[in-house]
This record gives sequence, C-alpha cells and structure tokens, in this order.
Amino acid sequence: MASHAVSNGQKPHVICVPFPAQGHINPMLKVAKLLHAKGFHVTFVNNVYNHNRLLRSRGPNALDGVPSFRFESIPDGLPETDGDRTQDVPFLCESTMKNCLAPFKELLQRINARDDIPPVSCIVSDGLMTFTLDAAEELSVPNIIFWTTSACGFLAYLYFDRLVEKGLCPIKDESCLDREIDWIPTMKNLRLKDIPSFIRATSRDDIMLNFFLHEVDRVKRASAIILNTFDDLEHDTIQAIQYITPPVYSIGPLHLVVNRDIDKDSEIGRMGSNLWREDTKCVDWLDTKAPNSVVYVNFGSITVMSAKHLVEFAWGLAATGKDFLWVIRPDLVDGKLAVVPPEFLTETADRRMIATWCPQEKVLSHPAIGGFLTHSGWNSTLESLCCGVPMVCWPFFAEQQTNCKFCRDEWEVGMEIGGDVKREEVDAVVRELMDGEKGNKMREKAEKWRLLAEEATEPKRGSSELNFETVVDKVLLARG
Ligand code: UDP
Repeated sequence: MASHAVSNGQKPHVICVPFPAQGHINPMLKVAKLLHAKGFHVTFVNNVYNHNRLLRSRGPNALDGVPSFRFESIPDGLPETDGDRTQDVPFLCESTMKNCLAPFKELLQRINARDDIPPVSCIVSDGLMTFTLDAAEELSVPNIIFWTTSACGFLAYLYFDRLVEKGLCPIKDESCLDREIDWIPTMKNLRLKDIPSFIRATSRDDIMLNFFLHEVDRVKRASAIILNTFDDLEHDTIQAIQYITPPVYSIGPLHLVVNRDIDKDSEIGRMGSNLWREDTKCVDWLDTKAPNSVVYVNFGSITVMSAKHLVEFAWGLAATGKDFLWVIRPDLVDGKLAVVPPEFLTETADRRMIATWCPQEKVLSHPAIGGFLTHSGWNSTLESLCCGVPMVCWPFFAEQQTNCKFCRDEWEVGMEIGGDVKREEVDAVVRELMDGEKGNKMREKAEKWRLLAEEATEPKRGSSELNFETVVDKVLLARG
C-alpha cells in the first residue's frame, strides 16, 4: 500500500475526533486505521468518559497504541463520572459544542510542541464535533468532516433550516408528521415522520433541533465531507448533497475495507472500540444452528424502550417459534434495569441466546442469521446489507426514521414495525421476515446490495476505494 510523507520527510499526522457515542467511534476508528495503513501518524481523541470505558471494557492496555497510533482524551464539559451507559445525548451535544474547543486546542498545542512526533497536518472530525474547524483554520490545516450517517439522513438534516423557515418545525401536533414533503431533491414519497426525529421538536428552543441546525451549517466550512456509504446505494442523494456542501466522498462500507486490508491479529487490527464487554459465546451458539434459521435482535447502543415494549418484543419472539439471539443492554429499558419475564425465559430456553453486547459484525456475517430486528442505526443497517441480511425496522430516533424509510421503499430490504409495538405484530412480521415471500424477496435484494458493496470496495477499481485515494491525495495531503 502506498505510504505518504509530507515535504519535510515526516509522516503526515492526522487527528481523528469521533463524537462520543458507539455508532460514531466505530466508523471513525476504521477511518483512522485505514489512514494509518496509508502511512499517516494517527492521534485518536476520545472524550475522557469513553476513554475510561474502553479501558474497562477492553482492558487496561487497550489504549496504549503503538508509536505511530496514539490515543488521547479531552473532557467533554459534563461532570466527570464513571458509568457504563451512553451519556445523555442532548446534554452531551450541548456540552461538546460549548466546551471542547479549548481542551482540543490545548491538545494540539501539546502535540505540536513535541519533537518526537510529526506536527499535526490534518484533522478528520465527526459532523457533530465541528468545533474542530476553528482549530484547523487557526493552524491552516485541512479538516475533513466525517458525517457518520447515511447520505439520505445527512441530506434530510441539511434541509432542517428550510423546514423551520416553512413553519413545518416546531411541529404543532403529531398529526403534522403525516404531511408529505415533496421538495427535497431526490427524496420521493417522503413524509415529515421520515425526516430525522429531531424535526419533531415542539419548541424552537429544543436543544437537538438547534444543535443540528448549528452543526449542519458549520459543516459547510469543511475541506471535504466523507460518508460511510457507497455510490450505487445512494448515488442520487450524494449528488443532491454535492450542490449544498463542500465536496462529498462516499468511502464505505468501511468495515469491508478494514476487514480486508488490516490484519486482524496485528497491533492495529486488535485495536477495538466496543464500549461494552463483548459476549463471544453467542458466536459459538450460532455455530450450532442451521443456515438462515436464527433471528438476530439488537437495538444498538442508545435506544431505550418502555418495560411494556420489552415484554411485547419478548412474547412476540416467543410466539414465532424461531431461534433467536437477542442483545439486551442492561440500560435498554428507560429508567430501570431491563428484565424480561421469567416465564418467557423458561418457555424459550432451548432456542434462544440472550447477551448484553455481542461482536455484531461477526454475528451478522454468520450463516445462521436469517433476519435482523433492528433500530435502523446506520452502522447496523450497512453491516446487515453487506451480509445480505433482510431487516425488520423499529427506528428509535435521529436519522433512523430516514434509514427505515429507505430500507423499506428504496432499497427494499426492510419492513417497518409500528412504534407502539404489539406482540402479535412482532410475531407476524418476524415470521414473514424469516419464511415469507416478502422476506425472501428482501433477502434477494440484500444479496444484490451485498455484491454491489463489495464492488464499491474493490482494490484500485471500486468507487469507494478511488474516493478514499482522492480524499487522501487531494484533501488531507493538500498544501497551501
Ligand atoms: N454493536 C456491536 N454489538 C452490539 C450492538 C452494536 O458491536 O451488541 C455495534 C454495531 O456493530 C454498530 C454500532 O455498535 O457498529 C452501533 O451503531 P448503529 O449506528 O447501528 O447504532 P447506534 O448505537 O448509534 O444507535
């Protein structure tokens, strides 16, 4: 693989700054590994809270790094605590926006004062961490923004200001959500409820609405934008984004490239980002199951549900008669420990595996998995598509609503399940997913997307591969 050096003979030095949540740290670590493989010196900056969590989940040496790949941390401005749950998202957004620039600039100064590592030459930061742009401009280095959602989710966020201008947000009541939005380019048959959930704000002072308006506006100052998607999947949407923002490059699915190019047993390959300790028993359990026979149920790192919905999912899954692997984070239920009914555990004892966190990429690529009941987080959606696994979508928040709409209507790989979920519906939809005609059609479509994702990441030819090269050569290594 080509290795790059800046003009003084030193390695280029990239600072990677993810937003402090699992679904953002994972893809950013992948970008960091790929840049390292291309010869960059990497500094990866977590917030202190997640830095400490990673040390607990992955062991005390997990963030020692290697001389050319270092981990650092900065405070996010929230009161310091130890915990094993995702931080409160609105507080975190507001706090990072207001408080992270100063410690980030101090970190850059500290790095640049050292003579044993190359000076900072570029920044890749999350689309929700745009404070970095001020620091990059001061140092006159390029700053790429990594917007970690789908392109369709990103495009919808880019139209938040127009939705506010048109008086569609704040919403007056829930009935407004069925209103058709027919003026966002390339987005067909879209309703307000398909737009990222923060548009459902009922007040103009809503923290998340204002945070997204702020970040999306600042993104326009980036040197370029990268997206973890691929051209065949979201071509028209990516074109529509190009009209509004700095150059956009689709460079995904990143996990396909990382799994191929980075030796998983090397020091870099072993670096992981799971904030929860992985339960690997579930993969052994899957080994005992027939192909396409197991339903995989996982709602990601942030989703919370009511205790009532947890029980409905449980009895719905029990009714299907199918084998299932269900990942239940201890904090999956809003406000209390997630506990499923003991009778449900007894009744399904011989055909279920329950875990608190699993190695999801491994699970989804296991031949036993026949369908995925998901919250439609972007990483989960992409990981599922790349394994040819069809989905039942139960979107929780953010752009998961948009991902669900696209899975259902555009990519034809998903069925939606109602927000106020009932056991009968879970039973019916999961059976259809696993054994029905619609499920089979979705499986065929997913297989088609899987092949296209592989093409997009083909060495030297794939669209995402070529885009990544361009980003490195024309943006990250650009001078003056
Ligand atoms: N993940 C995992 N094990 C789990 C649950 C999730 O490894 O038990 C990973 C998953 O592979 C994905 C990320 O965590 O990369 C979740 O990101 P996503 O965008 O799907 O959802 P979020 O957690 O941000 O809502």
